[in-house]
Amino acid sequence: MSNSGYSRLEDKVAIVTGAGSGIGEAAARTFAKEGASVVLVGRREAPLRSNAEAIVKTGGEAITVAADVSSSGDVDRVVAETLHRFGRIDCVFNNAGIQGNGGPIVEMKEASFDELIAINLKGPWLLTRAALRSMLDGGQGGAIVNTSSFLSTGATAGTSVYSASKAGLDAMIRAVALEVGDKGIRINNVNPGVIDTPMLRAHGEEVIPPLAARAALGRIGTPQDVANAAVWLCTDEARFITGQSLLVDGGFTIPGPR
Ligand code: NAP
Repeated sequence: MSNSGYSRLEDKVAIVTGAGSGIGEAAARTFAKEGASVVLVGRREAPLRSNAEAIVKTGGEAITVAADVSSSGDVDRVVAETLHRFGRIDCVFNNAGIQGNGGPIVEMKEASFDELIAINLKGPWLLTRAALRSMLDGGQGGAIVNTSSFLSTGATAGTSVYSASKAGLDAMIRAVALEVGDKGIRINNVNPGVIDTPMLRAHGEEVIPPLAARAALGRIGTPQDVANAAVWLCTDEARFITGQSLLVDGGFTIPGPR
């Protein structure tokens, strides 16, 4: 039984990227509360360590692997260390991402395009590929969730590449779902609206009230709001859901005149 007393992922092993802050930090703790052993991934070791220590202190199991998700060598190391320590992979939450150096396309540098696509799109593709090889070998099925965005179908001026990177994730899962569904492996996205994380806070406090007012629920989201949906998609409760991009936005994007 997990420390929460509610353990939908008992004996499972979950890899969470971007697990040192924001949505990934909350998700790593939530996977652990549900009974999963958790592998926390990100580039900076210190925030991963402190989150892993918090998990272990409350009775969970966690290890950290400092890695850049855009490097195939690093991603292979994440999988190898996971298998070495826990022997299997059941869930992957491809959550690491950057907002990057966006802006009007005419002012953007090619390097910013490459960085955004490498981290936000190629990163999840690399870890999905590596984890699927292990899941298929193990034959025990599995669940993968990526963090997309409301901006995969929406847009604000300045998000040409960010939006494209997230739309790429929405497209990717449809094909992968068809490739591995018959092996009991599901893949879905969570598409957050505006969420209170360091990524949002980088824009300043003043942006928050008008964004909160736009959402049907009258507030911006918490990292836990998104973590709950991502972890749920990995549980058996979501066993008939695959290839879907789930908006978790408090009604921020409800369309039509208002
Ligand atoms: P955050 O706190 O900035 O989290 C992003 C995490 O990704 C950081 O922990 C970062 O750690 C990690 N990361 C970035 N690049 C990486 C790389 N190359 N390799 C490994 N880890 C990397 O912001 P967040 O809002 O929680 O973001 C999580 C996800 O939600 C992102 O994919 C973001 O695009 C998406 N999202 C956020 C919002 C929002 O309103 N906050 C809305 C829609 C979608 P290191 O820097 O240590 O690597």
